[in-house]
Amino acid sequence: MQFAKVIGHAALKAKLIGNIREGRVAHAQLFMGPRGCGNLPLALAYAQYLLCEAPDVADSCGTCPSCLQMQKLEHPDLHLAFPIFFTEKVKVCEPFIPDWRAKVIAEPYTDLDHWRESLESENKQLRMGVDIAQEVQRKLSLKSFRGGYKVSVIWLPELMDVPAANKLLKSLEEPEPNTVFLLVSNDPDQLLATILSRTQLVKVPALRPGEVSEVLRSKFPELSAEDAQMIALRSEGDLLEAISIAQQGEEELFVFFRDWLRACYGAKVAEASEFGEQFQKMGRENQKALLNYGLYLIRQCVFQEQAVPELVRAIGEELEFVRKFSALLSPRNAEGIRAELERSYVHVERNANPKLLFMDMSYRMMGLLRKGR
Ligand SMILES: [Zn+2]
Repeated sequence: MQFAKVIGHAALKAKLIGNIREGRVAHAQLFMGPRGCGNLPLALAYAQYLLCEAPDVADSCGTCPSCLQMQKLEHPDLHLAFPIFFTEKVKVCEPFIPDWRAKVIAEPYTDLDHWRESLESENKQLRMGVDIAQEVQRKLSLKSFRGGYKVSVIWLPELMDVPAANKLLKSLEEPEPNTVFLLVSNDPDQLLATILSRTQLVKVPALRPGEVSEVLRSKFPELSAEDAQMIALRSEGDLLEAISIAQQGEEELFVFFRDWLRACYGAKVAEASEFGEQFQKMGRENQKALLNYGLYLIRQCVFQEQAVPELVRAIGEELEFVRKFSALLSPRNAEGIRAELERSYVHVERNANPKLLFMDMSYRMMGLLRKGR
């Protein structure tokens, strides 16, 4: 992947390239940033630049043998590690590498859930154990194929268990010559402090709304400019979230959420139960997108209620709703509503029964909306 294919982050790209050109290549770097920000594609572009035979000031060449191999993630000096589900026999990444390559080439902004789905392992836990850390160490002990750097990309190292993390720490402390570790994390708080302290931080911010809406317009040509902008704002720079909303139809999320809240406000149990049926049929990814969207919308209502309308980013119909609904909020119930949505999100991730979960949330919401009045 070339830097040119990575969305946004112009200043950061220039800084990364500048560092390489000036010979400042830290042997362990942590590309950290929120979901959907593009820290994985950025790390892969960095690796390609490092391995390219004829890089220029702006990017890797894209045509040398190294670049051609990197574009397929098949460079012999690129080593990959990522979370997998363990079987009786398999506890290392090697057998999963073709799947991972295919997934990341098709959607380099991927996350753990999408990766799990592509493995058709819905209910299995993805992890990284000590065998994977050993695998990383073993691969890096080999001689470089092309005589240059050996690059180890470790995706989501926060999912390493403690023995694995300690083993990795050892590799970071006693690196093989010409070895570069690129750790790519969405949740660096979960990393061992000792690992954090061994890496150079590369902070990757969320994408800008304009960047997200541009991607949406090219992926979904039927979207209007206004809708693309609205989705980009809602997704808060998370490209995966934005795509998920666009796929569902951005109107639908809003309409579902608004009408459900109305039913809760009116304490209409039968209606709420119909929403529960719909929720169940949505599938886990869409359920999460809906709850995330709800959190976004409630946040907008809270800004409105607290009389800081300059922070409200809703437009059109959404803004109209925010203005009306915020009148039902008070500091007493706003926090409760937010906590309810977050709690449900966590339960969806843990595979709770969606219909029961949704009804439970609906009853609580009815209570909370009464409280505010
Ligand atoms: Zn090249």
